[in-house]
Amino acid sequence: MVIGCVDRDGPRLMLNQFCCERGIPLIDAASDTAPAESGALFGGRVCVCTEATGCLVCFGVLDQNEIQEDLATPGQRADREELYGVPKSALAGGGPSVISVNGVIASLAVTELMVLLTGLRKPIAYQDWHGHAGTLCRVTDREMGCYYCGLRPKRGDLDE
Ligand SMILES: [Zn+2]
Repeated sequence: MVIGCVDRDGPRLMLNQFCCERGIPLIDAASDTAPAESGALFGGRVCVCTEATGCLVCFGVLDQNEIQEDLATPGQRADREELYGVPKSALAGGGPSVISVNGVIASLAVTELMVLLTGLRKPIAYQDWHGHAGTLCRVTDREMGCYYCGLRPKRGDLDE
């Protein structure tokens, strides 16, 4: 089992593919903040990726632009920065404090790990926590026919 706690979607996509190809369950935890007129939006999500539930790609949670940035070669990155400039966020001295937000998301992820390991209940495939609104939602949308889920080994392959 793999628990993914990476900050960017490029490494998330690589971890998703690694786990799909090997039939390894992946629990992915993510948190985020964004400025808003009312102050700030904050929250996160936990996805449990198994043969039965799906993966990060079919849940539609990965940002394709961020993946392109993360997986670009140094030359491609330099070309992009020359064309579009360096993002203002890359120049900031520090990020927002998200300790309590990360604590909630980490606890949700560990709870899903616990239920997966013990069989206490079925894991929840995708939970979305909106801390600024005080809501926790179970997301059931999933795109079927996912390429990455198709990489999972068949049951017989795992026994060999
Ligand atoms: Zn998938």
